[in-house]
Amino acid sequence: MVKAVVGANWGDEGKGKITDMLGKEADIIVRFQGGANAGHTIVNNYGKFALHTLPSGVFYDHTTSVIGNGVALNIPVLFHEIQGIVDRGVPMPKIKVSDRAQMVMSYHVLFDQYEEERLGKNSFGSTKSGIAPFYSDKYAKIGFQVSELFADREELMAKINRVCEQKNITLEHLYHKPALEPEKIYEELMEYKEMVAPYVCDVSAYLWNAIKEGKEILLEGQLGSLKDPDHGIYPMVTSSSTLAAYGAIGAGIPPYEIKKIITVCKAYSSAVGAGAFVSEIFGEEADELRRRGGDGGEYGATTGRPRRMGWFDCVASKYGCRIQGTTDVAFTVLDVLGYLDEIPVCVGYEINGEVTTDFPTTSLLEKAKPVLKVLPGWKCDIRGIKKYEDLPENCRNYIEFIEDQIGFPITMVSNGPGRDDIIYRQK
Ligand code: GDP
Repeated sequence: MVKAVVGANWGDEGKGKITDMLGKEADIIVRFQGGANAGHTIVNNYGKFALHTLPSGVFYDHTTSVIGNGVALNIPVLFHEIQGIVDRGVPMPKIKVSDRAQMVMSYHVLFDQYEEERLGKNSFGSTKSGIAPFYSDKYAKIGFQVSELFADREELMAKINRVCEQKNITLEHLYHKPALEPEKIYEELMEYKEMVAPYVCDVSAYLWNAIKEGKEILLEGQLGSLKDPDHGIYPMVTSSSTLAAYGAIGAGIPPYEIKKIITVCKAYSSAVGAGAFVSEIFGEEADELRRRGGDGGEYGATTGRPRRMGWFDCVASKYGCRIQGTTDVAFTVLDVLGYLDEIPVCVGYEINGEVTTDFPTTSLLEKAKPVLKVLPGWKCDIRGIKKYEDLPENCRNYIEFIEDQIGFPITMVSNGPGRDDIIYRQK
């Protein structure tokens, strides 16, 4: 069976922990979009790890980790990550990289930096990992696919020359930066070839056979619904689709094979980068939630940047779950809220004097003011609780209130960062 683990919100919902946990029953874990711009933090028997490219299943020796064609593959980052986990005692993972994945080039990273510099205060808050220039090139048909590493030198050089010609015009006239040298790009590609060659695989054929053999496959999403380029808060979005539906494309499997869509939803909100964030809080209230949030505070796994904080947003989460095609909600990081006497929840948006529970397009979103409902807190530590009935009444009321608002079943409640900190709920 194929299951997808995806985010309902702005990312950082705890997808890594849920994938790592479900990985126990999985044979194959697939990354299908995004690149090394966001990260998952995972706590397990080997320690605490921040992964950016590897799927969260790499810690099990029974799983195969797959980088699908939809990923922005940064080969040096991937190898650094593999080395990093092996050096800390994790067995060498089984990895397959799609021959149709495209590669993030060093100049993509440079273009990302140059553009953010050029935009100054209007920048997107990019992590400068080259993701937007990478996907722009992919769709402009000037990207490099892994399979091209195995082409003749002549053929590859001809394409490199074409690409450099175009890039160099922008470098010279828009950014006033040094030009690219085709020979250097060729050398870069040959270094990548050496690193990636042992792992290259026809991933869609591999997964097709795995599905036929009844293997358990997990698709692991990066970021969340609201960062999707089509359905998110455009233009403050990422450059590849964050939706489960894209899992079929970014992994190369039939869409009807995705039987379960587990949407991870955090018990409060956080966001990185610019863009409207209706339930955002500020000052000491935000600092305290940030300090206590996640596992060791709400700071970016890739950049270390403090995340923007907010109360749970039912409007955004209802939409985020719907657009993912959610079958199950995993409600995470609930334990963090145990310090609050009262917990505000955003139940509606007031836009131009009218209240709505439907998530609007960006220009209206900018005008939205949160309508808050305050729920009583439970004022205790819920970590270690294993049964839903054993949660304090106010905590269950919080979960059930939110479930009612978003309209999708919360079948898992995560009450700590570890693999076993999970409460299953029959629905
Ligand atoms: P992802 O990108 O969606 O995987 O999310 P991140 O890894 O950026 O953020 C999730 C953070 O919360 C990580 O530090 C996790 O270890 C932590 N985490 C996940 N679930 C829980 C939970 O239920 N409780 C607590 N306290 N931390 C959690």
